[in-house]
Amino acid sequence: MAKLDTFNDPFDFHIRTLPEPNPDIQTLRVHTNEGEIIKFENLTYDTYRVVVKCPEGSYKLSARAGQYGTIKVDGIQKPRSYSFAQAPEVENPNEYTFFIRLVEGGELSGWLAEKDRTGEKVELSGPMGKFGIDDSNKTIVGIAGGSGMSAINAIAQQVKVQDIPRDFYFFYGARTQKDLYLVDELKAFEKDWPACKTFKFIPVLSEEPEDSDWDGPRGFVTQYFQEHYLNKVLDADSIKAFFCGPPPMIDHGVKVLEEAGLSSADIYYDKFEDARSPAPVIDNAKCVLCDECLMVKPIKNCIVEATNFKVSNGDVTEFERVRPGHTSGLYYNSLFIDENECIRCYACVDACPHDAISPVYEQVPKILRQI
Ligand SMILES: Cc1cc2nc3c(=O)[nH]c(=O)nc-3n(C[C@H](O)[C@H](O)[C@H](O)COP(=O)(O)OP(=O)(O)OC[C@H]3O[C@@H](n4cnc5c(N)ncnc54)[C@H](O)[C@@H]3O)c2cc1C
Ligand code: SF4
Ligand code: SF4
Repeated sequence: MAKLDTFNDPFDFHIRTLPEPNPDIQTLRVHTNEGEIIKFENLTYDTYRVVVKCPEGSYKLSARAGQYGTIKVDGIQKPRSYSFAQAPEVENPNEYTFFIRLVEGGELSGWLAEKDRTGEKVELSGPMGKFGIDDSNKTIVGIAGGSGMSAINAIAQQVKVQDIPRDFYFFYGARTQKDLYLVDELKAFEKDWPACKTFKFIPVLSEEPEDSDWDGPRGFVTQYFQEHYLNKVLDADSIKAFFCGPPPMIDHGVKVLEEAGLSSADIYYDKFEDARSPAPVIDNAKCVLCDECLMVKPIKNCIVEATNFKVSNGDVTEFERVRPGHTSGLYYNSLFIDENECIRCYACVDACPHDAISPVYEQVPKILRQI
C-alpha cells in the first residue's frame, strides 16, 4: 500500500502531500446553473420581470424568500446580484423570477433593456444573503423602493402561502404612478390574508405631479411611514422592519426607527449596492479563519489569501496572491478582498459571524505575516 494511504497507523509519520486546491471551493454553499430567460416583460417603462429557467435536476438556487442570487451574461465580465422576486414555494420548478430596473450607465441592466431578451442564455448562482422573515409574531413592516419590491414581495408571498399569522404593512416608495407595478396582486392580499390578520399595501409617491388624479400618499416613503404610522398606527415595540432597495432610502429608514427606540435586532435590510458602493474590507485582527465568507462568495477571486501588500495614500496598489490550499490549513497571511474583482454583493458581510468584514473598515489590511 502506498505510504500516502497509511493514516491508520499512528506510528507512521509520513508527511502527506496537500491535495490540489479545489477551484470550485466557493460552490460549497453557492451553486451555479446554466439557465435561459424564458420570460421577459416590462413591469414599468424601466423595470423588467425576468424569469430564468434552469435545467431539470439542476441545483436549487433559492432557499427562502428574501435571498438573492447573481446573474452573469456573456460579454459582461462580472455577474450582478438580484433578489429572488418570488417565494421559492410559489415558483415553478427550476424557475427564478427577478425584477430588474434599468440603472443609468449600467452595463447589465442596460444590456437587458436593449431588446427582448427571451431565449438568452445566462449563468445563475445562489442562494446568497440572510435577509428574510424572523420567527417572532410581531407585525411585519416591509419598506421597499424601486426594484426592492422584489424581496419584500417574495416575503409577503411566503407569509401568505405558509399561512403565517402576522400583520403585514407594505410601504412602497416610487416616484410617480408610472413607476408602480404589482399593485393589483398586492391589493388582492388585503382581502385574503392568513388568520384574519391585516395586510396593507401602501404605495407612496415622491414626484407625482400635484395636479394628477393620484389621491394616495405622497412624499418619501420612510418619511411618510414616520409621520403617519410609526407610534400612531403601529407601536415601535410591536414591529419588525424589513427594508429593501436603494441605500439612501434604507439609511434614512433605519435612522428613523433607531431614533424611535428600535434595536438593530428588530431591523433587517437588503441594500441594493452597485459598482458605486465601497467594496467591503476584512479586518484580519477580527477574523477567526472560519471560512464562512469563502463559502458564500459568488466569484472565485474576490476574497483571496494575499501577502506583501504595497500601499500608497491609504490604498493597496499591489499584493501577492498566496496559493490557496498550500498553507497547511492556516491562512498564512491575510484574507484580502480585491476591490477590482468584488461585485459588491455583500454576501461575505452577511456571512461573517465575527463582524470582521465591513465596507467601513480601513482599506489597508492588518497583515499577519509577510512571506
Ligand atoms: C444584494 C443585492 C440585491 C440586488 N437586487 C436587485 C434587484 O432585485 N433588482 C435590481 O434591479 N437590482 C438589484 N440589485 C442591484 C444590481 O446588483 C446591480 O447593481 C444593478 O442592476 C446595476 O447593475 P448594472 O450592471 O446595470 O450597472 P453597473 O455597470 O454595475 O453600474 C452601476 C452604476 O455604477 C456606475 N459605475 C460603474 N462603474 C463605476 C466605477 N468604476 N466608478 C463609479 N461608478 C461606476 C454606472 O455608471 C452605473 O450608474 C441588487 C444589489 C444587491 C447588492
Ligand atoms: S468580496 Fe464579498 S462583497 Fe465582494 S463579491 Fe465577494 S462576497 Fe461579494
Ligand atoms: S467569515 Fe469572517 S471570520 Fe470567517 S474567514 Fe471570513 S472574514 Fe474571517
